[in-house]
Amino acid sequence: MKNFSGKRIVVTGGAGFLGLHLCERLLGEGHEVLCVDNFYTGRRRNIARLLANPLFEVLRHDICFPLYVECDEIYNLACPASPVYYQFDPVQTTKVSVHGAINMLGLAKRVKAKILQASTSEVYGDPVVHPQTEAYWGNVNPIGLRSCYDEGKRCAETLFFDYHRQHRLRIKVARIFNTYGPGMHPDDGRVVSNFIMQALRGEEITVYGNGGQTRSFCYVDDMVDGLVRLMESPDDFTGPVNLGNPVEFTILRLAELVIKLVNGEHRPEDPELKVVFAPLPSDDPAQRQPDIGLAREKLGWEPAVQLEKGLEKTIEYFKRLVESESDLPRGEERAGSGEWEREQ
Ligand code: NAD
Ligand code: UDP
Ligand code: UDP
Repeated sequence: MKNFSGKRIVVTGGAGFLGLHLCERLLGEGHEVLCVDNFYTGRRRNIARLLANPLFEVLRHDICFPLYVECDEIYNLACPASPVYYQFDPVQTTKVSVHGAINMLGLAKRVKAKILQASTSEVYGDPVVHPQTEAYWGNVNPIGLRSCYDEGKRCAETLFFDYHRQHRLRIKVARIFNTYGPGMHPDDGRVVSNFIMQALRGEEITVYGNGGQTRSFCYVDDMVDGLVRLMESPDDFTGPVNLGNPVEFTILRLAELVIKLVNGEHRPEDPELKVVFAPLPSDDPAQRQPDIGLAREKLGWEPAVQLEKGLEKTIEYFKRLVESESDLPRGEERAGSGEWEREQ
């Protein structure tokens, strides 16, 4: 029998970057949280500090397989999010997006739970509509290197809406735009972690292409707040809804900002600044900026943290990580104990 006033919430991918922050937020609100993760990119180390909380439980489980638990809400975040990792085993990426969604929807159906899908701006592909609104159907290559993720997430959205129409499931679909902040894995391969780690280690900053492509970066606390607001919104609001920071930056500008914050005032054309240009990965979207009008209207949400402030906090986090790097036990300094599993 329940002896607490909160809800029983499942967070799949709870040991990952967004999942960890979300688990912390939900625990802070007095909910019981079951983190379901196979540690593919997430880390046991991430959630170690939550284990002392009696409301927190962790289950090592791959959501491509059925899961029978009782719960009131499900946040479905399980899926590698960095291009480097989702392209490492692309078939598994599609499986977790599609089979994982079916299992979590089946679970939600059986226990009548509300379920939120962590979808992505990648459903818009390389967008020809700018900024992107939810009404835009996207421009996605179905057979490219990013397709395992893009099409997997698009199919997951389809499944969510079919379970809603067919089984009256209470669903919420968030289209998450690039998010960053403390807790990112240093070797995650995403642009913010790459640039900061390179700058802190005195290495060259690798800008892909000419750096003219754009992204809009949302601080993790803002994103978690948006996800929780979406879950708590009235049942007739399903989304999809864009969650992201609408302030758009070129990648070169991001490199300049990181260098300025880490090393002091420099310009990339100055020789001492270590920007190098590397080939642009295939299908890399040229521009990305969310229209967040719907989130403002329906959720009363908009990001509060400006990029420079958010980067300062993220740089502080990575600085502490670099200082403690030599203390990391083997297997924990890399992205996820999933790698440890593959080595066996
Ligand atoms: P992450 O890689 O840090 O976390 C993903 C988590 O899912 C990891 O803990 C990983 O071990 C777990 N996982 C992967 N496959 C699994 C499986 N089969 N079963 C159980 N657990 C599994 O990524 P993140 O940045 O925290 O992203 C979380 C979610 O948000 C993802 O679904 C991602 O697609 C979505 N998203 C993130 C961003 C972003 O900028 N961070 C942007 C758009 C969408
Ligand atoms: N499922 C699950 N947990 C549950 C209920 C279902 O993991 O508590 C899985 C189940 O294995 C199934 C999937 O969810 O393959 C879809 O369930 P649904 O009831 O929609 O489909 P069905 O079982 O009728 O194929
Ligand atoms: N990028 C870069 N250098 C890096 C990593 C990424 O220039 O070291 C670029 C990448 O080509 C893309 C943008 O930064 O244009 C964002 O990349 P990320 O992998 O973070 O996320 P994406 O939005 O592409 O999924």
